[in-house]
Formats: sequence, C-alpha cells, structure tokens
Amino acid sequence: MKKLKWIFGIVLIVTVFAGLFVRNFNKDGVFERTEFLFDTSCTVSAYGENAQAAVDAVFERLGEIHKKTDFFSESSEVFSLNSAKADEKVSISDDLAKIFEVAMEVQKASGGSFDPTVAAVVELWNFSGEGRIPEEAEIAEKLSWVGGELLSFEGKNTVKKSADGVKADLGGAAKGYAGDEAIRILKEYNVSGAVVDLGGNITCMGENPKTENKKWRIGLQKPFSPTGEIDGVVELSEGAVVTSGTYQRYFEKDGKKYHHIIDPKTGYPSKSPFSSVTVVAKNGLTADCLATACFVLGEEKGRELAERYGAEIYFTD
Ligand code: AMP
Ligand code: MG
Repeated sequence: MKKLKWIFGIVLIVTVFAGLFVRNFNKDGVFERTEFLFDTSCTVSAYGENAQAAVDAVFERLGEIHKKTDFFSESSEVFSLNSAKADEKVSISDDLAKIFEVAMEVQKASGGSFDPTVAAVVELWNFSGEGRIPEEAEIAEKLSWVGGELLSFEGKNTVKKSADGVKADLGGAAKGYAGDEAIRILKEYNVSGAVVDLGGNITCMGENPKTENKKWRIGLQKPFSPTGEIDGVVELSEGAVVTSGTYQRYFEKDGKKYHHIIDPKTGYPSKSPFSSVTVVAKNGLTADCLATACFVLGEEKGRELAERYGAEIYFTD
C-alpha cells in the first residue's frame, strides 16, 4: 500500500510538471502564459533568454493593476472611489492617476463619448451578469451622475466626486494601460520580442522571429464569427492594436442584442452600423480610450478624433 502511494505521488508530480511544461513552452521557443484577468483571457507570449522570468513578472504587474481597477472588488481603488461621499478627498495611486489622466483627456477630446463616469448607468445593465434592460426612469436618474465635470482632481493623486452617486468605470481604459506596463517590463527583461493579448487589446514589441520582415501580424477578428475568422491583418513592430466591439460583451433579450458600449448621452448601448472599431496607436492606454470613444462617435467624428491623436482606425461591419 505504502509503495502504491509512492508510485501515485511520483506519477502525480511528473504529470503536474509535464502539464506546466506543455502549457508554457512550445516548440518554436516561445514562452507563453495565459491567465484570466480583467474579466477576460490574457495571454503573454515572449521570445528570448529571459522570456519566462519576464512573462512571470508581467503577470504579477497585471494582477496588481487588475486589483486596483476592478469595479466589483471591494478592495479595489475604484471601489473606494465609488463608495466615497460627495466632496470627500480620495487618494489614488500613480497607476490610477495615469489612467485617469488619459481617460479624462479623451473624455474631453471626444465630447464625452468616452467617459469613465458612465459607470452609474453601465451598472444598471448588469453586463457582467445575466444582463437586464433597465427602466427608462432608472436610466434618466443615473444619467445625472454621468459627466466628466463631476470628477475633480487636486494634483494627480486626489479625486473628488461632486455627488455621492457618481461612479467611475475604468473598464474601457485599464487593459490598455496594463498592456503598456507589460511592454515596459518585457523591455526591462530584454526579451527579443513579445505580444501581449488582453482580450482584444494587443500590445507588442521587438522582433517576430516567424516573419521575414520581423514584424508582428495582428489579425482583426470577424465580429460574431463562431470560428474566430480573421477580417484583416495589421502589421507592426511596436505599438498597440485595440478593438472595441459589440460582440465582446452583450446579452440577448427577445431576439435583440444589447451590447456593453454605452453612449453616455443616452444611457443606452451606442447605436452604430458597425460591430467593432480597431485603433492602432503607439500607446495602449490612448488606443483603448480612443477605440471606445470612436465606437460611440461613429465613423466621421471617430476618424477625426483618431487623426488628432495620429492613430489609425478601422471600422468593421
Ligand atoms: P472597451 O471594451 O474598451 O470598449 O470598454 C468597454 C467597457 O468600458 C464596458 O464594459 C464598460 O465597463 C465601460 N464603458 C462602456 N461604455 C463606455 C463609455 N462610453 N466610456 C467609457 N467607458 C465605457
Ligand atoms: Mg476601450
């Protein structure tokens, strides 16, 4: 019996190690790890000698950013801000300060089409749960707590809300910032090339050993394709390719789809003839805010805004 236990123990250890090995390496010399963070599947793939240590360090950092920005976690900074009373001074970390800085800039530049304070209304729709269509009166009530001017900043690290009910949702920006931080760390570790995929937010750096021109080829997913068909390809050496799409999060009621990108002016899912918008820019945080903003703005104004930021933009049916 004792011998059997030993054999069982050894088999278990070998299986676990084999499992880890298969999960993390593949035969092309890439180190790859996938975790569920930011309510989505996140994969980091890196090449080079320090790839494993680099990817592990990246996930530690992604975990930190996720913890601070998680709308639902009572221990997050966003939750503390959202539970604060009007005029209470709320201290925020440098991470949140950096996200807010760009988010509020895009809020202004987009005329409020991107607005983190849309949270009060987003919450009503329960996209992270089963989904629910709010009453018109509920939406009207919560809309009074939506608007960039309802948050005021003292320096970079102190925020105040102008009413108790004002809330912030960094879901449209945090993954972009996380992607930039991942690239910063991967460079610190001197990896030769890497791709960071945070559920529709791609950032990359260095050389792709698998292409002749060493560039990364990022496929743009065909919206609603069950097999993940590709609708186009963007080639780049370094930067961000960020997609905001209706297919990324939605629920269906009575045959109608309700998606998660809310027009802060109406409180309803933004009406658009397009299923997704992809922004290609140097910086992931900017690209993330812009993609959400441009989806709401529509093609003409969206292109204008992207151009002002020197970003490329693609609208997909
Ligand atoms: P993204 O996937 O980057 O387009 O961000 C969508 C997420 O950001 C949603 O799931 C909401 O949490 C939040 N959100 C929805 N509409 C907006 C908006 N108009 N401005 C800012 N954040 C939004
Ligand atoms: Mg976004």
